[in-house]
Amino acid sequence: MDNNIIFGSAAALIAASVSWGVCKSLTKKKQTLYENFIKERLSAHSEILDIIDDNLVILDENSEIAYINNAMKSFLGFDKKDIPKQFPMPEVVENNFKVSLENILEKIKINPYKFIINHGELILFINNRKVPIQLYISQYFNMDINSKRKVRILIFKDNRKDKEKEQFAHKHKLTKLPNHLKLQKDLQSTFVKLHLNDRRLAVVSMEIDEFSSLRSIIGYEKANDILITFATHLNTMAKEFSFVVYHTIHNTFILFMDSINNETDIYSVINLIQDKLRSLYKMENSILHLTTSVGIALYPDNSTTGELLNNSYKALNQAQKKGNGWVEMYKKTDTSHGYDELKLYNDMHLGLQKNEFEIYYQPIVSSQTRKIVSAEALIRWKHPEYGMVRPDIFIPIMEKTGFIIKLGRYLISEVLKQQKRWELFKFNQVPVSINLSLAELEKDNFVRIVESELQNNKVSAELIKYEITEGLAMENEERTYNQLSELRKLGVNILLDDFGTGYTSFSYIKKIPANIIKIDRSLVINILTSSKDQGITKAIIDLAHSIGMKVVVEGVEDEHMFNKLRDMGADYIQGYYISKPIPVFEFQEFLRP
Ligand code: C2E
Ligand code: CA
Ligand code: CA
Repeated sequence: MDNNIIFGSAAALIAASVSWGVCKSLTKKKQTLYENFIKERLSAHSEILDIIDDNLVILDENSEIAYINNAMKSFLGFDKKDIPKQFPMPEVVENNFKVSLENILEKIKINPYKFIINHGELILFINNRKVPIQLYISQYFNMDINSKRKVRILIFKDNRKDKEKEQFAHKHKLTKLPNHLKLQKDLQSTFVKLHLNDRRLAVVSMEIDEFSSLRSIIGYEKANDILITFATHLNTMAKEFSFVVYHTIHNTFILFMDSINNETDIYSVINLIQDKLRSLYKMENSILHLTTSVGIALYPDNSTTGELLNNSYKALNQAQKKGNGWVEMYKKTDTSHGYDELKLYNDMHLGLQKNEFEIYYQPIVSSQTRKIVSAEALIRWKHPEYGMVRPDIFIPIMEKTGFIIKLGRYLISEVLKQQKRWELFKFNQVPVSINLSLAELEKDNFVRIVESELQNNKVSAELIKYEITEGLAMENEERTYNQLSELRKLGVNILLDDFGTGYTSFSYIKKIPANIIKIDRSLVINILTSSKDQGITKAIIDLAHSIGMKVVVEGVEDEHMFNKLRDMGADYIQGYYISKPIPVFEFQEFLRP
């Protein structure tokens, strides 16, 4: 092989090549890098290709080897010094059929796509061993500007490596239990699905008490033995009581329970673990009395993955302060939510670009027919680190910083596009209401934006509503009145949200060009038991009707509440009893003709 044909000398690329070397998987960018690398003859020495851990071969049109790197040589079972003259075309299995690599190369000749072709998983036979691979093959390109010799790059990605690496990365080295990385991953994926059912979760942190002093007495080896024995025991219990156990660091173990009915369940599992640990370990025929302290955090009391983990540690810390073997449940002591607001603020901008925000829809039904009459758009943020962040957390930050304007534009534009799609696909369309913040209304051009969005999307104004809160409407009366009247003139309906939460005043209602009021959840929580709340709710409904307004009640969670409110005269009902807010694809089942 003539190295010099390909490899000139340009030491500059050494730096770039190092990062390829550590790259685990072959990204598109990397493929392009490889191609440019050869193409532009920027390549320094073959050494560069030889420190890359991808298995790489460069073949010319006659399938002769122009270059084969060290990784590929050892992958094929050659000694590093051996240079095979002809590339030993391995056999591969594609869709259960054995085909030769030549066949595949042949197929690719007529493939119109420009660059790398990824065949999914193939099986490669090397010395009668089956190796799952992914194969990347580039198109031919001129090896260098002066030469007519055409070459292409083949990369054999050994899938075993990735799997091994991933498994390795997700296990604790000593106890082989899933580790903190796996915990994060599992928590995230559970959280994404949480809205689908009313699940309760518990994150339980536990540490063997006084472990570091114990270790200094009995030595590392025996201390490790204890950890392994404890881990094995926890793992057995995990299967029996269906929770998952993780070993994060040192002597910290985390139990993740996602199928609990009540707090008593958690305590009884913990008691069993603690009991067992007391007599688990024997040393020189005498039992070592070990204790473990425990901290618990529950979902939905802690509403994000970050909160759950941090607060279970906090509880553990409290427990340890109280003494060995203590169990402590995290209790919210203040109202701060534990998020880093600055981080959330910084992340919003990119989040919007990266489609991390998603609109959920919650149906609103007629109390008489139970048929859907409209829906509320409620924003969700799937934050890459925190998981699902509640709007209560980030909306106030957006309002403080003005970002809410951007979100508002996103909402109107997305909702209208969605309406258009429903129209095209002949769904039964219903109006969708969007929550409006004061900052949006303060922008002079707000009404103009709504107007132009309606025109651009060719959607009728009746298909959207804006929900405003009483407080908001009272803030700057005249100006608000003018803006809202203009919206009404466009044909957009206004709904007065959170009614009954404090400012309630019917003299104001008349001043606001709204035609629907929504009674707040806080008034209906005790509707079945509190005669006071019944009185207020009934009065609001009657008064609203007397001035020609319709009434929605939100937060209706069961049939008794539904029936009660219907009998009290509520026109429309919204709440978990009908449905939680759900992603568009689930929601549109309500609209299917
Ligand atoms: P809101 O406008 O009062 O929205 C109603 C809230 O009650 C929603 O919470 C909804 O999920 C919840 N809810 C509905 N039915 C029930 C029920 O039966 N039981 C219980 N426990 N809750 C129920 P969510 O989605 O967390 O929104 C919270 C607040 O965040 C909203 O209160 C609204 O003020 C604000 N928000 C949400 N999305 C947006 C948005 O797109 N723009 C603006 N400006 N604010 C938004
Ligand atoms: Ca609302
Ligand atoms: Ca509300």
